[in-house]
Amino acid sequence: MKKTRVRFAPSPTGPLHMGGVRTALYNYLYAKQNGGDFILRIEDTDSNRFVPGAEQYIIESLRWCGIIPDEGVDADGKVVEVPSEKHPHAPYRQSQRRGIYRKYAEQLVEAGYAYYAFDSAEELAAKRAEAEASGQTFIYNYESRTALRNSLTLSPEETARLIAETSDWTVRFKMPEDEVVEMDDMIRGHIEVNTRTLDDKVLWKRADELPTYHLANIVDDHLMEITEVIRGEEWLPSLPLHYLLYRAFGWERPRFAHLSLLLKPVGNGKLSKRDGDKLGFPVFPLQWTNAEGESSRGYREDGYFPEAFVNMLAMLGWNPGTEQEIFSLDELVQAFSMDKVQKAGAKFNPEKAKWFNKEYLRMKSDEELAGLFVPVLASHGISDDFGHLCKVVRLIKERATFVADFWDIAWYLFKAPEEYAEKDVNKFWKPENVEPAMKVADFILAYDGEWKREALEGKLEEFIRSNEWPMGKVMNCIRLALTGSGSGLGIADVVILIGKDEFKARIDRAAAVLG
Ligand code: GLU
Repeated sequence: MKKTRVRFAPSPTGPLHMGGVRTALYNYLYAKQNGGDFILRIEDTDSNRFVPGAEQYIIESLRWCGIIPDEGVDADGKVVEVPSEKHPHAPYRQSQRRGIYRKYAEQLVEAGYAYYAFDSAEELAAKRAEAEASGQTFIYNYESRTALRNSLTLSPEETARLIAETSDWTVRFKMPEDEVVEMDDMIRGHIEVNTRTLDDKVLWKRADELPTYHLANIVDDHLMEITEVIRGEEWLPSLPLHYLLYRAFGWERPRFAHLSLLLKPVGNGKLSKRDGDKLGFPVFPLQWTNAEGESSRGYREDGYFPEAFVNMLAMLGWNPGTEQEIFSLDELVQAFSMDKVQKAGAKFNPEKAKWFNKEYLRMKSDEELAGLFVPVLASHGISDDFGHLCKVVRLIKERATFVADFWDIAWYLFKAPEEYAEKDVNKFWKPENVEPAMKVADFILAYDGEWKREALEGKLEEFIRSNEWPMGKVMNCIRLALTGSGSGLGIADVVILIGKDEFKARIDRAAAVLG
């Protein structure tokens, strides 16, 4: 049996959309599950759409997700340019493979599957305008080609002359006039398309001596021994041409799987950056700044864990057939199967993305989270004992979705409040509450029992109850002194984490400021 070899073949035309990351992920899972190779190939033959930095962005995004290509990218994260044992098909950037493709285009012409077309850009533009004027669209196809300037209509001599003397001709595929192309897709099943509906696509351009996507894609998939092509559904319309190209070359075809789109959270249509901007979520794995200096947010910078992002993406369009939702990358490799990839588009739900992050945050150790919290604290000018940080994290992690939330939840464990919320002061800071609160504070300062939450909490409640003071109001008075507002963590927790001295200082200050 042939070794499974799949590829992710992005064009570096901008930041990788999360849908693209999902395509890469499904390729990776498929490869690993079958003990095969996952190859990265950069399809950069369209120089007009080339965006500097996009290639590096793609590689860095995959790395962040843990989707590491077996071939095409070296250990330093660079696209491999020179063949080696591990990367036998280098270069993996199509612009650097340009010398390869011409002979394949010519081979097709010789065999009668393609032809030379000499129509200039102006001539074609005129044709388009003419058709438009009569409410039609111009298509270069089996019908129109008979009245255009190409090697099918010109004499061999004229053709030879134009090839030699002009430099903006192309090679076009000669789409059969009336044939039903029968295709199979691993997700969509059997598909049939009549070639009448298809045009004569350009395969190779003399002007830049470069192939178009279609030719380069088929030639490279063949040369790189790709066994399955897993890609986005936007390429489904190209499938008949790709089938016909394989047939024309006499090459064995890979199998194809076209993944459906990621859809907007509300309404219909493809998930776009605009939806993200409007509803406040990223559509890119990493932050991206374009040439105009406009930034788009990224999952990484927004505080998502890569494992959570990957898990969430995997479930967008695939399900394991069980209730299980949390999967590590290794578990996904085991569980993934193409027949459970859904045909319909997958609606993206930003709340679910957060849910995944919260779940992953809860699963992390206190030590790891404390380590991640250190830079957040540093950004607020605070450094803290690591052991203490771990205790704080243990207490608050259930309430957080992102590490950055730790600060919002528990900043007052690191610095005293400077102000007291007026609303809460008016509500709680009344003589009938403050007086018992001060006695409770004295009780806490005198407490010499076990320095643990349950113990302290128990004693406190016992003390307040035995005096028949209103529990909630008295506690909120103390909380106001400790946190600056009537809400927050339990008093016993706060006291234990800030210590008696700091506790006393805060009580004294509140008493002095609030009276
Ligand atoms: N270069 C194409 C893209 O940008 C690849 C399509 C394919 O995988 O065949 O999506």
